[in-house]
Amino acid sequence: MPEEDEEIVDAVVAGKIPSYVLETRLGDCRRAAGIRREAVRRITGREIEGLPLDGFDYASILGQCCELPVGYVQLPVGIAGPLLLDGQRYYVPMATTEGCLVASTNRGCKAIAESGGATSVVLRDGMTRAPVARLPTARRAAEVRAFLEDPDNFETLSMIFNRSSRFARLQGVQCAMAGRNLYMRFTCSTGDAMGMNMISKGVQNVLDFLQDDFPDMDVISISGNFCSDKKPAAVNWIEGRGKSVVCEAVIKEEVVKKVLKTNVQSLVELNTIKNLAGSAIAGALGGFNAHASNIVTAIFIATGQDPAQNVESSHCITMLESINDGKDLHISVTMPSIEVGTVGGGTQLASQSACLDLLGVKGANRDSPGSNARLLASVVAGGVLAGELSLLSALAAGQLVKSHMKYNRSSKDMTKIVP
Ligand code: ADP
Repeated sequence: MPEEDEEIVDAVVAGKIPSYVLETRLGDCRRAAGIRREAVRRITGREIEGLPLDGFDYASILGQCCELPVGYVQLPVGIAGPLLLDGQRYYVPMATTEGCLVASTNRGCKAIAESGGATSVVLRDGMTRAPVARLPTARRAAEVRAFLEDPDNFETLSMIFNRSSRFARLQGVQCAMAGRNLYMRFTCSTGDAMGMNMISKGVQNVLDFLQDDFPDMDVISISGNFCSDKKPAAVNWIEGRGKSVVCEAVIKEEVVKKVLKTNVQSLVELNTIKNLAGSAIAGALGGFNAHASNIVTAIFIATGQDPAQNVESSHCITMLESINDGKDLHISVTMPSIEVGTVGGGTQLASQSACLDLLGVKGANRDSPGSNARLLASVVAGGVLAGELSLLSALAAGQLVKSHMKYNRSSKDMTKIVP
């Protein structure tokens, strides 16, 4: 380390230079990170050699993605696919350190592709933000609520709201009250952005406008938790948040046998007892699935989404039915709150943007804003469909193995039964 940098490290360690000013003061993000890292090493006495420093563009995260950087964590990215979805083949990037996850999802993709593919439908596309305001009385709060929910006022409200961005378009406001506190859940489309910044600006415009007519309204917070962001909440499960997607496929009898090594009846029974009854017993909220969050989170990390939003983005009910006289399997995943974007946040970083590019959804869709983000949501749901299919099959096949072990201990015979 050059002598000049050594002096800066000393000053940081001594508390004479705040660590957070290094980037602005030095005008060199890589150098700032190196100096900060050395200061941390000296203060803690811990070597952090395993955490790489070089090979990362620190300028790309400045003021956007991460403060006080000292390095970066490496995560492997595996590819599951092709996922045959709506007639297209997708190679799905998954960042994970959970062994078998990519392999299992890949197997699900294979079963889907060999059965002719999956189809998806995006039912809703709207980000939400719910500020909370306190009024002098509940009666007064109800007046504000009536104003916001009056269809005659929608045009005025959307004009004010939509000024925040070319892409933000108000869809509606849904209110709830707790005494004299009013929670106003705004929903808007956000183009290809996940949309939290965009919607917050629109909501702020409306709050400023309301303040003129309701000067006694005391805005407590731009977020009153009725949004609801990054917390399990029934409102997202029931009303949706981000993209609401259903993805379905018919898996042929021979594919269930050959690729998934189980049978339709066992799968349907397992889904009912585990994903439906079991989750009901557990008092689940949006958790009527085997491991949706595994796939959601791995794709989120690979494509630069906000991984904390896996909470509601993983809400999923998995349904299985036998069809065609019990021969084939109909499987679907219904996911009401997949929160994804292809612009903004971590999506513009080099590796995350490469993963988006692999899926053909990098950046803004110029012809039809919002369609890249919606497609990404469909791919997430498609990946979850593959993941559910594969894990349920593994569990069902495991059960098959066990029951055959019990009734016929000969391993030779077992290999005949479980191919
Ligand atoms: P978020 O609202 O998800 O936090 P940002 O506000 O950080 O996202 O990023 C969205 C930005 O990208 C906005 O400034 C918006 O004007 C711009 N943008 C460009 N093209 C699009 C598009 N197709 N959809 C949405 N935003 C877009």
